[in-house]
This record gives sequence, structure tokens and C-alpha cells, in this order.
Amino acid sequence: MNTLARLDLEYIWHPFTQMREWLKREPIVIVEGRGSVLRDTRGREYLDANSSIWTNLHGHNHPNINRAIRRQLAKIAHCSALGLANEPASLLAKSLVRAANPPIYDLRFTIDAPAGPKTRKSKIDNRKLSKVFFSDDGSTAVEVALKLAYEFTRRSGRSRQPRFLSVAGAYHGDTVGAVALGHIDLFHKRYSGLLFKTDEVMAPYCYRCPFNRARPEREDAREYRQCRWECVSKVEQKFVSRKKRGNPYASFVFEPIMQGAAGMIPQPAGWLRQVTAIARSHGALLVADEVMTGFGRTGAPPSQISNLESQTLFACHHEGVRPDFLCVAKGMTGGYLPMAATLTTQEIFDAFLGEYEDFKTFFHGHSYTANPLGAAASLASLELLQSAESIRVRARLQEAMRRELQSLWSLPNVGDVRQTGLIAGIELVRDWRTREPLDLRERAGVRVCEAMARRGVLTRPVGNVIVLMPPYCTTPAQLRRMVGVMHASIDGCFNGR
Ligand code: PMP
Repeated sequence: MNTLARLDLEYIWHPFTQMREWLKREPIVIVEGRGSVLRDTRGREYLDANSSIWTNLHGHNHPNINRAIRRQLAKIAHCSALGLANEPASLLAKSLVRAANPPIYDLRFTIDAPAGPKTRKSKIDNRKLSKVFFSDDGSTAVEVALKLAYEFTRRSGRSRQPRFLSVAGAYHGDTVGAVALGHIDLFHKRYSGLLFKTDEVMAPYCYRCPFNRARPEREDAREYRQCRWECVSKVEQKFVSRKKRGNPYASFVFEPIMQGAAGMIPQPAGWLRQVTAIARSHGALLVADEVMTGFGRTGAPPSQISNLESQTLFACHHEGVRPDFLCVAKGMTGGYLPMAATLTTQEIFDAFLGEYEDFKTFFHGHSYTANPLGAAASLASLELLQSAESIRVRARLQEAMRRELQSLWSLPNVGDVRQTGLIAGIELVRDWRTREPLDLRERAGVRVCEAMARRGVLTRPVGNVIVLMPPYCTTPAQLRRMVGVMHASIDGCFNGR
């Protein structure tokens, strides 16, 4: 066995991994990456079909990001943000604020959600995300939003005990506050004794929605669903009943456009606009967790794909939603370094202003807050993202994914193929005609991904949903191979081929 593999087995405890299984075999040890290709100690090559757990944007070893980090390294790797400012963090904060507040997106993306009695028209206001609080990863970005929202609500006199509403299946990270906002029993229930109480509202999971009366078809369930937006009414009901109890929700927390760890659950066009309008009308703050969806992952709305200018970087913009908090991480550094940010408004910021002795300070921070290397990588990544070439490449990849994924519908154990921008979830079922789910104990998702790895394509499932989330630099041939290998592996796992 390779020495590095042996050391791993001896010493490392891996995340989200049953270590008894891990210890049974020699792990793949990655030593290099270039573009969408990873190489292991034996010289075997793999395509990185989930962008190294949803982090990588422009490919591995990108010359521009490498250069930016090297340049910064020659100056200084790290200095504290407690009491000091630094060059790349200052520049990055400005760039993030600009990217988070595109001037005219509200007017451009009008969503054709049916207007009904329960549908309120979204009030497009001038909330600007103008302040940036840096942290380390998605979980800490969410913790920051959570603590700020909690304290802001108390200080504004709106509630002594601010209460949060989030979406069924939500995943916002693994630190205790973020876990409290989550609703995946498998991950979260065990820790309930540690958590504060939050509420959940149904997710717009069209494929498995009890209100969707349509029979299964070989198409994304959002397209053929038959419902009356009951999922939106459920949100309204939640807000109304909380209000009646005299303690309206302080904040609504959501993953915009697509929920990730819940199983790559995309929201039908119009859901986000409607539910955030409801939340706003009840005075709740909006917390958008764009840890997965940020930095171009959700692509362009299909009707806008050929419009180069339409490529916004954040999922909220697809529906003209301006949150009070925008949490970003994963792709912020292009997938290079652990760094995150929580963007918020002047109004929230102002609530923490006071004299020293008022102790209104936001008492929160991390040793590596505003890390210069991470900030330099993020600046280089943002510059790439905003280039016309990257916008074109993303639009092409989105289209290519749409075309290639069609082939999966021929497999009877593929129940749903759902794509939003440059993210796709492929839900495995016992039989597509009945949507009958597979028991998690059968490990279908795991087995398919293991079979894919043997064929040279790496991704991880979320339950029985196979994730396809390629780096933006993925070529048409590489994409074809990713989907082809997925096809062969699903077929192989269910039909013994
Ligand atoms: N929010 C969302 C939507 C995520 O997908 C994740 C990670 N998968 C997190 C938060 C937590 O991010 P991290 O793993 O960087 O702490």
C-alpha cells in the first residue's frame, strides 16, 4: 500500500465518513490537479465531477489564481483583522459589494409566477448589501448571519426571543448554530439537546411534493407539475400562525434557487420571489445562504442564457431578491482556500454602533478572519468570473449539461434529473413510474459513485441523489465522459452490468 494511504488510514478521521468502511480499503490519494482533472499517487486520472465538494470554479491549478496567491505570499501570508486592515481584504470587500448589488437585475428578471390571492407582489426596495464580515467557511458565514440577525432583532425591539424559520431539508453547516437551522434528521437530530428551537416549512420539492398531482414523466418535475403553489401557501400559513402567537418570525433562512445537501432540490421559478415577499411583509429578515449557489453556480435563467450581461453571480438575483444577509464561502476563493463572508446592510451595521462603553460591539471573530492569501485568491477568482470569456464558458457548459443529461432519462432507476445552472441532481428510485424511493441502507448512491470512481469520475451522492457539479473549465468531451460514466455506473449498479 502507498505510504501516504497508510498514514491516512492510521491517523485521519474523515468528515461524513463511516470510518469502519473507510479502513477496509486503500484510499485514493490525490497529489495533483489541473483543470477538471485530478491525479493520484499511482498516476491515475479522475474527472472532478463535483468540483471538490462544490468548491472549485475555474479548475485546479489556474494560472491567474496561482499567480495572485504567489504574489500575496511574497508580501505576507496572514495578519490579524483584529485591529488591522490589509490590502487584499479591503479590495475584495469592495468587489464583493459590487457583485452582490448589480444595478438593474430587479428589472430584468421578471418571473411569470401566477398571481393568486396568496401571491403578494414583491416589493423591490433599496436594501443594499454594503458591509462585509469575513470568516472561514460556510458554517461560520451562517453563524455570523445568525448571531447578527438575532441581536439586531432584539436591539430593534421586535422580539426578545427571535425565532428563525428555515426550509425542510435545509443544510446550513455543521457548527451548532448552523445545525440548529438545519432540518436533515440524519445529521442533526442527534444533537437536538445542544440546539435552540427553529421551525421548518415545506420545501418546494416538486418531484416528491404531496400537492403535485401530475404522474411521473421523463422530464424535470418542475416542468410538468400540477399544483396550486400550495408550498407558497404553507409559508404564508407559518408566518400567520407565528404572528398570532405574538412572536412573529425574526428571520427566514433559505438556500436560494437550489437546496444542496437536501438532495439538490431546485425551486420552481417564482417560489423564492413569492416566499421572500411573504417573509418581508411579516417583517422578517432574509438570510440567503449562497454557500453552494454563489459565484455563478446557478448560471443564467434559461430565457436569458444567450444574454452575456444577464449572468449574475448570485442565485437571489434570479428572482430579484435582496436579502439582509448573504452568506458566501466554498467558491469564493475559486475553491483554493477556506475563506467566507457574510454581507449585510447598513441598517444591521448601524445597530452595532455605539460608544466603546456601550458594548454594542459585535463580539465575534476568528483568528484567520480576512486572511490575505484567501482574499487574493478571491479577487483573482472574481475577476475571472466577471470576464466575458468566463460568462460565455459558463453559458456553454450549462447548455451542454442540459443536452448531455437527457441521456439519463432512458434509465428506469433514474426518477428525476434536475438541473439549475451548473448544478444537477440525479435522483435514483426503484422504478421511475412509481417514484418509489430506495432505502438509504441499500447505499445505491454510494455504490453508483464508487462505480464512477472506478471508471475515473469522482463525485459524492447526497443520499440517493447523484451530484454533477463540474468546474466551469470542463470541456464538452470531459462533460460527455462524466455523464457517460454516470450512465454506465447507474446501469451497472442496478442491472449488474
Ligand atoms: N451552507 C450550504 C448551503 C452548504 O452547502 C454548506 C456545505 N455543504 C454549508 C453551508 C457549510 O459550509 P462549510 O462546509 O464550508 O462549513
